[in-house]
Amino acid sequence: MKNFEPHLGRVIWDLTYACPLRCIHCYSESGRRKSEVLDEAVALRLARKLADAGPDRVSFGGGEPLMAKWWKGAADVFRNSGIRIAVFTGGWLLEPDLAVELVTSVDNVSISIDGPNAAVHDIIRGRNGSFERAMRAVALLLEAREKSGARCEIAVEYTATRTALAGLEEFLGSLIRRFPSLNYIRVGAVIPEGLAAEPKFCEVHLLREEEFDQLQRICESVARQHTDFSPRVEFTDVREFLPSAETPAEDAEGVILHLEPSGQVRAMTNYEAKVGDALTTPIAELTQRIWKWRLDEDIRERFRQVQSFSKWAEITRGIDLDHGSEADRIRILKRR
Ligand code: SF4
Repeated sequence: MKNFEPHLGRVIWDLTYACPLRCIHCYSESGRRKSEVLDEAVALRLARKLADAGPDRVSFGGGEPLMAKWWKGAADVFRNSGIRIAVFTGGWLLEPDLAVELVTSVDNVSISIDGPNAAVHDIIRGRNGSFERAMRAVALLLEAREKSGARCEIAVEYTATRTALAGLEEFLGSLIRRFPSLNYIRVGAVIPEGLAAEPKFCEVHLLREEEFDQLQRICESVARQHTDFSPRVEFTDVREFLPSAETPAEDAEGVILHLEPSGQVRAMTNYEAKVGDALTTPIAELTQRIWKWRLDEDIRERFRQVQSFSKWAEITRGIDLDHGSEADRIRILKRR
Protein backbone atom coordinates (compact mmCIF):
# COMPACT_ATOMS: atom_id res chain seq x y z
CA MET A 1 0.00 0.00 0.00
CA LYS A 2 1.11 3.51 -0.74
CA ASN A 3 2.60 5.37 2.21
CA PHE A 4 0.17 8.24 2.61
CA GLU A 5 -1.46 9.88 5.63
CA PRO A 6 -5.01 10.81 4.63
CA HIS A 7 -6.50 13.86 6.26
CA LEU A 8 -10.12 14.47 7.22
CA GLY A 9 -11.89 16.71 4.72
CA ARG A 10 -15.64 16.89 5.03
CA VAL A 11 -18.04 15.25 7.48
CA ILE A 12 -21.49 14.24 6.20
CA TRP A 13 -23.68 13.41 9.16
CA ASP A 14 -27.08 11.82 8.59
CA LEU A 15 -28.69 12.85 11.88
CA THR A 16 -31.70 10.54 11.56
CA TYR A 17 -33.49 8.30 9.09
CA ALA A 18 -36.83 9.84 10.12
CA CYS A 19 -38.31 11.85 7.25
CA PRO A 20 -41.78 13.15 6.36
CA LEU A 21 -41.09 12.40 2.67
CA ARG A 22 -40.69 9.07 0.83
CA CYS A 23 -38.53 9.91 -2.18
CA ILE A 24 -38.26 7.20 -4.80
CA HIS A 25 -34.51 7.90 -5.24
CA CYS A 26 -33.54 8.15 -1.54
CA TYR A 27 -30.06 6.72 -0.97
CA SER A 28 -30.81 6.01 2.70
CA GLU A 29 -34.39 4.72 2.34
CA SER A 30 -35.38 7.23 4.99
CA GLY A 31 -38.91 7.43 6.34
CA ARG A 32 -39.30 3.70 5.74
CA ARG A 33 -36.92 2.41 8.39
CA LYS A 34 -36.10 2.91 12.06
CA SER A 35 -35.09 6.53 12.71
CA GLU A 36 -32.05 5.56 14.85
CA VAL A 37 -31.51 9.08 16.16
CA LEU A 38 -28.93 9.40 18.97
CA ASP A 39 -29.75 10.71 22.45
CA GLU A 40 -28.93 14.40 22.76
CA ALA A 41 -26.07 14.00 25.24
CA VAL A 42 -24.42 11.31 23.10
CA ALA A 43 -24.92 13.33 19.92
CA LEU A 44 -23.37 16.48 21.40
CA ARG A 45 -20.41 14.48 22.72
CA LEU A 46 -19.95 13.06 19.22
CA ALA A 47 -20.21 16.56 17.70
CA ARG A 48 -17.39 17.74 19.98
CA LYS A 49 -15.26 14.73 19.06
CA LEU A 50 -15.81 15.42 15.36
CA ALA A 51 -15.11 19.14 15.76
CA ASP A 52 -11.84 18.34 17.57
CA ALA A 53 -10.80 16.27 14.53
CA GLY A 54 -10.91 19.53 12.53
CA PRO A 55 -12.92 18.81 9.36
CA ASP A 56 -13.06 21.58 6.75
CA ARG A 57 -16.85 21.55 6.83
CA VAL A 58 -19.82 19.55 8.06
CA SER A 59 -23.12 18.79 6.34
CA PHE A 60 -26.25 17.61 8.13
CA GLY A 61 -28.47 15.32 6.07
CA GLY A 62 -30.61 12.31 6.68
CA GLY A 63 -33.48 11.64 6.71
CA GLU A 64 -34.76 15.07 7.56
CA PRO A 65 -32.05 16.49 9.85
CA LEU A 66 -34.47 18.97 11.44
CA MET A 67 -36.27 15.99 13.00
CA ALA A 68 -33.28 15.40 15.29
CA LYS A 69 -34.22 17.70 18.17
CA TRP A 70 -30.59 18.46 18.96
CA TRP A 71 -29.59 19.61 15.45
CA LYS A 72 -29.04 23.20 16.62
CA GLY A 73 -26.91 22.17 19.62
CA ALA A 74 -24.72 20.10 17.32
CA ALA A 75 -24.51 22.96 14.79
CA ASP A 76 -23.41 25.31 17.59
CA VAL A 77 -20.57 22.95 18.52
CA PHE A 78 -19.16 23.08 14.98
CA ARG A 79 -19.69 26.78 14.48
CA ASN A 80 -18.03 27.59 17.81
CA SER A 81 -15.02 25.68 16.50
CA GLY A 82 -14.98 27.78 13.31
CA ILE A 83 -16.25 24.93 11.12
CA ARG A 84 -18.72 25.73 8.35
CA ILE A 85 -22.00 23.90 8.61
CA ALA A 86 -24.57 23.13 5.90
CA VAL A 87 -28.05 21.62 6.22
CA PHE A 88 -29.93 19.72 3.50
CA THR A 89 -33.69 19.71 4.03
CA GLY A 90 -36.81 18.73 2.12
CA GLY A 91 -38.47 21.83 3.57
CA TRP A 92 -41.63 20.07 4.77
CA LEU A 93 -41.22 21.13 8.43
CA LEU A 94 -40.26 24.76 7.88
CA GLU A 95 -42.32 27.32 9.78
CA PRO A 96 -41.37 30.98 10.39
CA ASP A 97 -39.68 30.39 13.79
CA LEU A 98 -37.74 27.38 12.59
CA ALA A 99 -36.64 29.29 9.48
CA VAL A 100 -35.16 32.04 11.67
CA GLU A 101 -33.44 29.47 13.91
CA LEU A 102 -31.98 27.75 10.88
CA VAL A 103 -30.59 30.76 9.01
CA THR A 104 -29.04 32.14 12.20
CA SER A 105 -27.47 28.79 13.19
CA VAL A 106 -25.79 27.51 10.03
CA ASP A 107 -23.81 28.76 7.02
CA ASN A 108 -25.77 27.13 4.22
CA VAL A 109 -29.27 25.69 3.79
CA SER A 110 -30.19 23.71 0.68
CA ILE A 111 -33.79 22.84 -0.09
CA SER A 112 -34.39 19.92 -2.43
CA ILE A 113 -36.84 20.46 -5.26
CA ASP A 114 -36.86 17.57 -7.72
CA GLY A 115 -39.62 18.33 -10.18
CA PRO A 116 -40.66 21.35 -12.26
CA ASN A 117 -44.18 21.32 -10.82
CA ALA A 118 -46.25 19.76 -8.06
CA ALA A 119 -47.46 16.86 -10.22
CA VAL A 120 -43.92 15.61 -10.92
CA HIS A 121 -42.20 16.64 -7.67
CA ASP A 122 -44.87 15.13 -5.40
CA ILE A 123 -44.67 11.74 -7.12
CA ILE A 124 -40.85 11.70 -6.95
CA ARG A 125 -40.85 12.77 -3.30
CA GLY A 126 -43.71 10.49 -2.33
CA ARG A 127 -46.00 13.00 -0.66
CA ASN A 128 -48.77 15.26 -1.91
CA GLY A 129 -48.16 18.90 -1.06
CA SER A 130 -44.37 18.53 -0.87
CA PHE A 131 -43.75 20.88 -3.85
CA GLU A 132 -45.83 23.65 -2.27
CA ARG A 133 -44.12 23.12 1.08
CA ALA A 134 -40.66 23.22 -0.48
CA MET A 135 -41.46 26.47 -2.33
CA ARG A 136 -42.90 27.93 0.88
CA ALA A 137 -39.75 26.87 2.71
CA VAL A 138 -37.60 28.81 0.25
CA ALA A 139 -39.77 31.91 0.80
CA LEU A 140 -39.66 31.54 4.60
CA LEU A 141 -35.88 31.12 4.66
CA LEU A 142 -35.24 34.13 2.46
CA GLU A 143 -37.61 36.24 4.55
CA ALA A 144 -35.99 35.02 7.78
CA ARG A 145 -32.55 35.88 6.44
CA GLU A 146 -33.63 39.34 5.41
CA LYS A 147 -35.28 40.08 8.76
CA SER A 148 -32.49 38.62 10.92
CA GLY A 149 -29.58 39.97 8.90
CA ALA A 150 -28.02 36.47 8.95
CA ARG A 151 -25.41 35.70 6.30
CA CYS A 152 -26.51 32.13 5.64
CA GLU A 153 -26.41 30.99 2.00
CA ILE A 154 -29.76 29.68 0.75
CA ALA A 155 -29.86 27.35 -2.23
CA VAL A 156 -32.12 25.01 -4.16
CA GLU A 157 -30.80 21.57 -5.14
CA TYR A 158 -32.50 19.91 -8.11
CA THR A 159 -31.86 16.21 -8.66
CA ALA A 160 -33.03 15.33 -12.15
CA THR A 161 -34.70 12.06 -13.03
CA ARG A 162 -36.02 11.38 -16.53
CA THR A 163 -39.55 12.59 -15.71
CA ALA A 164 -38.18 15.80 -14.19
CA LEU A 165 -36.60 17.10 -17.43
CA ALA A 166 -39.70 18.32 -19.28
CA GLY A 167 -40.52 21.86 -18.19
CA LEU A 168 -37.26 22.27 -16.26
CA GLU A 169 -36.03 25.31 -18.20
CA GLU A 170 -39.27 27.21 -17.57
CA PHE A 171 -39.27 26.17 -13.93
CA LEU A 172 -35.71 27.37 -13.31
CA GLY A 173 -36.57 30.69 -14.93
CA SER A 174 -39.64 31.10 -12.74
CA LEU A 175 -37.68 30.14 -9.62
CA ILE A 176 -35.11 32.85 -10.35
CA ARG A 177 -37.78 35.45 -11.01
CA ARG A 178 -39.70 34.55 -7.84
CA PHE A 179 -36.63 34.25 -5.59
CA PRO A 180 -33.90 36.55 -6.96
CA SER A 181 -32.08 36.60 -3.62
CA LEU A 182 -31.36 32.86 -3.65
CA ASN A 183 -27.60 32.33 -3.68
CA TYR A 184 -27.61 29.51 -6.21
CA ILE A 185 -29.58 26.71 -7.82
CA ARG A 186 -27.59 23.52 -8.27
CA VAL A 187 -28.80 20.99 -10.81
CA GLY A 188 -27.48 17.45 -11.22
CA ALA A 189 -28.74 14.06 -12.31
CA VAL A 190 -29.77 11.36 -9.88
CA ILE A 191 -26.93 8.92 -9.25
CA PRO A 192 -27.40 5.19 -8.74
CA GLU A 193 -27.14 4.75 -5.00
CA GLY A 194 -29.57 3.35 -2.44
CA LEU A 195 -33.09 3.05 -3.88
CA ALA A 196 -31.84 4.73 -7.06
CA ALA A 197 -29.55 1.73 -7.73
CA GLU A 198 -32.46 -0.72 -7.91
CA PRO A 199 -33.00 -2.17 -11.41
CA LYS A 200 -36.62 -1.01 -11.79
CA PHE A 201 -35.71 2.54 -10.80
CA CYS A 202 -32.74 2.62 -13.18
CA GLU A 203 -34.83 1.40 -16.10
CA VAL A 204 -37.40 4.18 -15.70
CA HIS A 205 -35.65 7.11 -14.04
CA LEU A 206 -31.87 7.21 -14.60
CA LEU A 207 -30.88 9.65 -17.33
CA ARG A 208 -29.59 8.30 -20.63
CA GLU A 209 -26.43 9.77 -22.21
CA GLU A 210 -28.35 12.20 -24.47
CA GLU A 211 -30.43 13.33 -21.47
CA PHE A 212 -27.32 14.31 -19.53
CA ASP A 213 -26.40 16.55 -22.46
CA GLN A 214 -29.93 17.94 -22.53
CA LEU A 215 -29.75 18.71 -18.79
CA GLN A 216 -26.45 20.52 -19.27
CA ARG A 217 -27.84 22.56 -22.19
CA ILE A 218 -30.89 23.57 -20.11
CA CYS A 219 -28.71 24.81 -17.24
CA GLU A 220 -26.38 26.71 -19.55
CA SER A 221 -29.29 28.29 -21.36
CA VAL A 222 -30.94 29.44 -18.09
CA ALA A 223 -27.63 30.76 -16.76
CA ARG A 224 -27.12 32.76 -19.98
CA GLN A 225 -30.62 34.23 -19.85
CA HIS A 226 -30.37 35.34 -16.23
CA THR A 227 -26.93 36.83 -15.88
CA ASP A 228 -28.37 39.99 -14.26
CA PHE A 229 -29.98 38.11 -11.42
CA SER A 230 -28.09 37.03 -8.37
CA PRO A 231 -28.76 33.26 -8.13
CA ARG A 232 -26.06 31.27 -9.91
CA VAL A 233 -27.29 28.29 -11.89
CA GLU A 234 -24.76 25.51 -11.41
CA PHE A 235 -24.73 22.29 -13.38
CA THR A 236 -23.09 19.35 -11.61
CA ASP A 237 -21.95 16.83 -14.19
CA VAL A 238 -22.41 13.66 -12.15
CA ARG A 239 -20.73 11.65 -14.93
CA GLU A 240 -17.52 12.91 -13.36
CA PHE A 241 -18.44 11.00 -10.18
CA LEU A 242 -18.28 7.56 -11.82
CA PRO A 243 -16.36 5.55 -9.21
CA SER A 244 -12.73 5.11 -10.11
CA ALA A 245 -10.16 2.48 -9.24
CA GLU A 246 -7.53 5.20 -9.07
CA THR A 247 -5.92 5.95 -5.71
CA PRO A 248 -8.39 8.26 -3.96
CA ALA A 249 -8.31 11.12 -1.52
CA GLU A 250 -4.81 12.47 -2.06
CA ASP A 251 -6.35 15.66 -3.30
CA ALA A 252 -6.71 18.78 -1.24
CA GLU A 253 -10.29 17.93 -0.26
CA GLY A 254 -9.28 14.99 1.95
CA VAL A 255 -11.32 12.00 3.11
CA ILE A 256 -15.12 12.27 3.43
CA LEU A 257 -16.37 10.84 6.71
CA HIS A 258 -20.02 9.88 6.26
CA LEU A 259 -21.82 9.09 9.52
CA GLU A 260 -25.01 7.10 9.82
CA PRO A 261 -27.52 8.15 12.53
CA SER A 262 -26.30 5.37 14.84
CA GLY A 263 -22.72 6.69 14.72
CA GLN A 264 -21.51 4.02 12.27
CA VAL A 265 -19.15 5.42 9.63
CA ARG A 266 -19.53 4.51 5.96
CA ALA A 267 -16.46 3.33 4.07
CA MET A 268 -17.44 5.54 1.15
CA THR A 269 -20.12 8.18 1.05
CA ASN A 270 -23.57 6.75 0.30
CA TYR A 271 -22.40 3.10 0.18
CA GLU A 272 -23.56 0.70 2.89
CA ALA A 273 -20.10 -0.64 3.79
CA LYS A 274 -18.94 0.50 7.25
CA VAL A 275 -15.52 0.99 8.78
CA GLY A 276 -16.44 1.38 12.45
CA ASP A 277 -18.27 3.33 15.13
CA ALA A 278 -17.48 7.02 15.61
CA LEU A 279 -18.75 6.90 19.20
CA THR A 280 -16.00 4.49 20.26
CA THR A 281 -13.24 4.77 17.64
CA PRO A 282 -10.77 7.67 17.22
CA ILE A 283 -11.65 9.78 14.16
CA ALA A 284 -8.07 9.55 12.84
CA GLU A 285 -8.33 5.75 12.93
CA LEU A 286 -11.63 5.86 11.00
CA THR A 287 -10.09 8.18 8.43
CA GLN A 288 -7.29 5.65 7.92
CA ARG A 289 -9.77 2.80 7.59
CA ILE A 290 -11.77 4.71 4.93
CA TRP A 291 -8.58 5.26 2.98
CA LYS A 292 -7.58 1.59 3.24
CA TRP A 293 -11.05 0.40 2.20
CA ARG A 294 -10.78 2.37 -1.04
CA LEU A 295 -7.43 0.70 -1.74
CA ASP A 296 -8.80 -2.80 -1.23
CA GLU A 297 -8.12 -4.78 -4.42
CA ASP A 298 -11.64 -6.27 -4.56
CA ILE A 299 -13.22 -2.80 -4.39
CA ARG A 300 -10.82 -1.39 -6.97
CA GLU A 301 -11.53 -4.29 -9.30
CA ARG A 302 -15.26 -3.63 -9.01
CA PHE A 303 -14.77 0.08 -9.71
CA ARG A 304 -12.58 -0.75 -12.73
CA GLN A 305 -15.67 -2.23 -14.36
CA VAL A 306 -17.75 0.95 -14.01
CA GLN A 307 -17.99 2.46 -17.49
CA SER A 308 -21.66 3.38 -17.54
CA PHE A 309 -24.45 4.38 -15.18
CA SER A 310 -26.17 1.00 -15.46
CA LYS A 311 -22.90 -0.77 -14.57
CA TRP A 312 -22.42 1.71 -11.73
CA ALA A 313 -25.84 0.73 -10.37
CA GLU A 314 -24.98 -2.97 -10.60
CA ILE A 315 -21.64 -2.47 -8.80
CA THR A 316 -23.32 -0.35 -6.09
CA ARG A 317 -25.90 -3.10 -5.47
CA GLY A 318 -23.14 -5.69 -5.19
CA ILE A 319 -21.04 -3.62 -2.78
CA ASP A 320 -24.05 -2.78 -0.61
CA LEU A 321 -25.04 -6.44 -0.35
CA ASP A 322 -21.52 -7.80 0.18
CA HIS A 323 -20.13 -5.08 2.45
CA GLY A 324 -23.19 -3.74 4.28
CA SER A 325 -24.35 -5.06 7.66
CA GLU A 326 -26.72 -8.03 7.97
CA ALA A 327 -29.55 -5.54 8.67
CA ASP A 328 -28.66 -3.68 5.43
CA ARG A 329 -28.72 -6.96 3.49
CA ILE A 330 -32.16 -7.90 4.81
CA ARG A 331 -33.54 -4.42 4.08
CA ILE A 332 -32.09 -4.32 0.55
CA LEU A 333 -33.37 -7.79 -0.34
CA LYS A 334 -36.88 -6.81 0.81
CA ARG A 335 -36.95 -4.10 -1.89
CA ARG A 336 -37.14 -6.73 -4.63
S1 SF4 B 1 -36.23 14.05 1.72
FE1 SF4 B 1 -34.15 13.20 1.57
S2 SF4 B 1 -34.01 11.76 3.25
FE2 SF4 B 1 -36.19 12.18 3.00
S3 SF4 B 1 -36.90 10.51 1.68
FE3 SF4 B 1 -36.34 12.26 0.38
S4 SF4 B 1 -34.21 11.88 -0.25
FE4 SF4 B 1 -34.67 10.56 1.52
